[in-house]
Amino acid sequence: MHGLMMDTPLLISDLIRFADRNHGDTEIVSKTVEGDIHRYTYRDAHARARRLAKVVQGLGLKAGDRIGTLAWNGYRHYELYYAISGMGAVINTINPRLFPDQIVYISNHAENTALFFDLTFLPLVEKLAPQLKTVKHYVLMTDRAHMPAKSAIPKLLCYEDLMAQQDDGYEWPTFDEHTAAALCYTSGTTGNPKGVLYSNRSTVLHAYGAALPDALNLSAYDSVLPVVPMFHANAWSLPYTCTMVGAKMVFPGPHLDGKSVYDLIEQEQVTLSAGVPTVWLMLLQHLSANKVRFSTLNRTVIGGSACPPAMIRSFQDDYGVTVFHAWGMTEMSPLGTVGTLKAKQAKLDKEARYAVQAKQGRGIFGVEMKIVDEEGKELPWDGKRFGNLLVKGPWIAAGYLKGEGGDPLIDGWFPTGDVATIDADGYMQITDRSKDVIKSGGEWISSIDLENIAVGHPAIAEAAVIGIQHPKWDERPIVVAIKKPGQDVSREELLKFFEGKIAKWWMPDDVVFVEELPHTATGKLSKLTLRQTFSDYRLPTA
Ligand code: ADP
Repeated sequence: MHGLMMDTPLLISDLIRFADRNHGDTEIVSKTVEGDIHRYTYRDAHARARRLAKVVQGLGLKAGDRIGTLAWNGYRHYELYYAISGMGAVINTINPRLFPDQIVYISNHAENTALFFDLTFLPLVEKLAPQLKTVKHYVLMTDRAHMPAKSAIPKLLCYEDLMAQQDDGYEWPTFDEHTAAALCYTSGTTGNPKGVLYSNRSTVLHAYGAALPDALNLSAYDSVLPVVPMFHANAWSLPYTCTMVGAKMVFPGPHLDGKSVYDLIEQEQVTLSAGVPTVWLMLLQHLSANKVRFSTLNRTVIGGSACPPAMIRSFQDDYGVTVFHAWGMTEMSPLGTVGTLKAKQAKLDKEARYAVQAKQGRGIFGVEMKIVDEEGKELPWDGKRFGNLLVKGPWIAAGYLKGEGGDPLIDGWFPTGDVATIDADGYMQITDRSKDVIKSGGEWISSIDLENIAVGHPAIAEAAVIGIQHPKWDERPIVVAIKKPGQDVSREELLKFFEGKIAKWWMPDDVVFVEELPHTATGKLSKLTLRQTFSDYRLPTA
């Protein structure tokens, strides 16, 4: 027997229509590439997104077409999110920090028919355009006053000119909720990037999940600053989730240094912000160097890489900001878990609470998890045994665009490539990326655990732990670290700092201080690059 409820499709265009109706005067604020502040409301954004859908159609682009963007977080990028997905086409948000070859690969693989890009990327696009085989239209996301006098791109179009030629008289079409809406490529540290194709349905369901109180706890009370870029897994869905709940949105543009982020948080009374640990490192350094505090920020979402416990402590103890440690991946839209406390844990002493928060968090309803051993046998949720983490749910990829890489699923589960424990309360903790785990004497050493201890030392700003070939033990860990400005610590002092915090055989074999650590295009420590840099390095213990 079927239920008798309406079968209305879950469509992305409904989010912005709803925001217009219910939160029409709520602001969307953007710090632009040019450096000024742009303000308008959900009502304005909805009108402009409809006008933009007409622009896109006017260029001859149709439902199902892929349309690329190379853009920062800003209102025009937000309009593109809604106009493109809302008319039934697919927005392919390309990460401009990727190598130029990868950008070309992505655009050609996606068969993008048009490319919308910020002024910042004009020189890049001029260089790459001859290789972008399928792109017919190049649209610079700016107004007439900022258009270049001449460009290597013939027939370069101006976003605001195109907008001025249209009106807002556009009705969002209704279509199957499984229609593709957005396309993000994984950063592809090995091999080519692979395309993850989100649908209208997966995006709307994910937004519901992300907004839940034990997830990001978003509401119309909030002013939200996504520092995480709109080209990195849809800014963790905030452009959709904030629209769903009617939160004020604040976009930082390309201005991501500590001072700019701090000033924007204060000016726009931001209550929640989201980004990768490296961004927060810059912000915390700005706060302590200038002895300033937040007046409205009360929580921050940190994910993309493990958030060091020292960072959680600093935000909470020094600045009164609750940290939501979150984990996910491009293939998961991206949210999988968020580290919010349960009532019984809120009563624990501070240290015990921090131990819970340092984990990557509990699954959101919609994300099923399991851990398995090397033979694929399921492991217990005891917080101790660790194994390969698999996930399943309506906002998790079932495959990649054009079947690249073959069928990724194992009995209907998506293998994350992460190694984790899950405790009896459902809190998952990543011990490593499976490629980064250090194999010593047949056992595994967690590089993340060692990194967390290293950055707990007051003189260490950032640290990476990698495995180095050892004649007897297979691999042994070394710490590669950056000191905080004006602070000092010796190799021996740092090694001593590990004593008593880990099993003896986990003790790093060496410490190497460096000026800089390599990061990937999504802000993660690039252990692949580090391993290459240290390929000739010899362990003192070897
Ligand atoms: P990329 O394109 O850089 O691969 P993703 O966001 O898809 O971008 O990367 C997903 C991976 O990032 C996860 O599989 C995991 O290894 C890592 N990751 C994400 N969040 C966390 C976290 N909170 N702690 C540890 N690792 C994380």
